[in-house]
Amino acid sequence: MTLNLDTRQRAMLAEMGVRVWLPQSLEPVELAHVQVASQEASASPAPQPVRSQTAAQALEPVLAQFQALEGVAEMDWPALQASVAECRACGLCNSRKNTVFGAGVAADATPQAVDWMIVGEVPAAAEDEQATPFVGDAGVLLDNMLRACGLSRTPDAEKESGREKGSVFVTNVLKCTTPGNRNPKPEELAQCLPYLQRQIALVQPKIIVAMGRLAANALLQATVSDVQSLPLGKLRGQVHRYNNTPVVVTYHPAYVMRNLPEKGKVWADLCLAMAHLQAL
Ligand code: SF4
Repeated sequence: MTLNLDTRQRAMLAEMGVRVWLPQSLEPVELAHVQVASQEASASPAPQPVRSQTAAQALEPVLAQFQALEGVAEMDWPALQASVAECRACGLCNSRKNTVFGAGVAADATPQAVDWMIVGEVPAAAEDEQATPFVGDAGVLLDNMLRACGLSRTPDAEKESGREKGSVFVTNVLKCTTPGNRNPKPEELAQCLPYLQRQIALVQPKIIVAMGRLAANALLQATVSDVQSLPLGKLRGQVHRYNNTPVVVTYHPAYVMRNLPEKGKVWADLCLAMAHLQAL
């Protein structure tokens, strides 16, 4: 995977309102300093709220209590999909229309290793409706940025166009929406987390991009001691670890839709992830 953006990728980013500057020969050590400027573009606000830190702050003590959903750690992909679809392990099963398992190359019945895994936070109402993560304006923004990286959650189309540079699986920490898009309770997060952990174990991503506060907390609680108290901005710009998998933290696209100048920062974080993969 190369960081040299072709004309089409640059045009795509320009359309998104992201203006990119990259040096001619970018060495991995320089990547944390990729300079990206953003400009505002008109877009309607996404319905998904910006998740507060409150629920996640209380996650750790609750995790010890709820860590094991029966048998999840041994499930294969089809069993995991079925388990999520039928799950009634927390009260959110009563208000959801659908569970949201994930989308992308590994979403069919045959799991396979992926290059990228994108982890969001909580399915919004539209995601619940469509049983698909990252839909609406935030989903369009994510898809456009992934496409600029040569990635797509509909890989066949990318393959046919000859643009595919890696496979991607997209999911959320929580598999059910919350009533009124409220922040999830710590026990709901803790109860659902084994599903995400098993997804990661099965698709073995080369890199994970954690989008948003809840995703960062869920993935980095074991490796960043003060993750819950650190502003998300402080977690950006470096490569963390979830077990042995590299993790890059960035803002959630729904937040970016409400704070358009931050768009360039998300692009910079994706560049960091691309560069890290390139250096592997
Ligand atoms: S949020 Fe997770 S744990 Fe709760 S019912 Fe849905 S799938 Fe089960």
